Amino acid sequence: MQIANEKVVSIHYTLTNDAGEILDSSEGQEPLAYLHGFGNIIAGLERALTGRSVGDKFTVAIAPTDGYGERDDEMVQSVPRSAFQGVDEIHPGMQFQAQSPEGMQLVTVIGVEGDEIILDGNHPMAGMTLNFAIEVTEVREATREELDHGHVHGPGGHHHH
Ligand code: ZN
Repeated sequence: MQIANEKVVSIHYTLTNDAGEILDSSEGQEPLAYLHGFGNIIAGLERALTGRSVGDKFTVAIAPTDGYGERDDEMVQSVPRSAFQGVDEIHPGMQFQAQSPEGMQLVTVIGVEGDEIILDGNHPMAGMTLNFAIEVTEVREATREELDHGHVHGPGGHHHH
């Protein structure tokens, strides 16, 4: 069976940056299962997987525009420490969920200057070329329920409680 829209696909993956450092990997874990054609994974990876089948192994380099986007300096801003009520200590590297016009957004503290906290709203992998090593481990038909929900159920996918 070939990978196409509305198939459930399981992959093992290792993601490295251009320096060869591993950023993320499914090694030692269940393969990642996703529903193809629903934007559940980044666009460039979904495109590279289309037409592949079980047992295929390949590498693909994905440009930022097909990954997590280019970095946008306007998404770096400083906010007063008083905006972080209930947080005792703030240091670079901490991440917070922030409400934005586009919904919940992950922001990272990149600096602390006195009572000003410098926040970066860019995705941590924005601006990076993403190098994936992929092995396709399973391709199956999606269930009606999975198609209705737009995501995979069961091992490697969503679990509803
Ligand atoms: Zn569901």
